[in-house]
Amino acid sequence: MHILVANDDGYLAPGLAALVEVCRSFGTVDVVAPEQNASGTSNALTLQRPLSVYTAANGFHYVNGTPSDCVHVALTGLLPRRPDLVVSGINNGANMGDDTLYSGTVAAAMEGYLFGVPAIAFSLVEKGWQHLDAAAEVARAVIAQVLHTPPAGAWLLNVNVPARADAARLPRRITRLGRRHASEPVIRQTSPRGETLYWIGPAGDAREAGEGTDFHAVAQGQVSLTPLQVDLTDHAALPAWQHWVQPR
Ligand code: MN
Repeated sequence: MHILVANDDGYLAPGLAALVEVCRSFGTVDVVAPEQNASGTSNALTLQRPLSVYTAANGFHYVNGTPSDCVHVALTGLLPRRPDLVVSGINNGANMGDDTLYSGTVAAAMEGYLFGVPAIAFSLVEKGWQHLDAAAEVARAVIAQVLHTPPAGAWLLNVNVPARADAARLPRRITRLGRRHASEPVIRQTSPRGETLYWIGPAGDAREAGEGTDFHAVAQGQVSLTPLQVDLTDHAALPAWQHWVQPR
């Protein structure tokens, strides 16, 4: 078993170290993670400059690029062979609902999925690394299960773990993505040189958090597992658009 581990919080993040330790109990592990915190970079690839890969004293590789860069470089040139699994995280904070569109954690896993490698993104729902060890035990259980009973076809799983000491004993629920309200407004500041600066505001609260969603599961004290796909086509709207473009 050969597992590639990445994240978006950077190669020094506690969540990465915890996930790597878990993965080492399943086989050989390669770590390729961003040099700096690259949260919120989505699926960005660095195309305007070359990338460098460095190796830390602990053997972790780190790249001066995005989470997707890390997995892309690993899969297409750095690793001697194709991994059996790509895992990403454990992220510092939730990746639920629309978060998944912005998340570098999900994107790193998605890059594996796009290359046909099964992939899992792990996130700890509250920021601050509280109960990271319990979240790592959840990751261990999920990885053990997918290795023991591999899901059919190509798959990408998004896992959100409540930050609780008893996380490993919580029920695990298969969920769909909920939705968030639009982000909070930007926060305006004035720099020491009198320039106006804008901070992107925090994510909105859950808007669609009904039964069956990731938000709902986590609020009920459950571990949320959402199978993701990449096709953004609005399949349900295709007939209406056909009529719009060719009315009869
Ligand atoms: Mn992050």
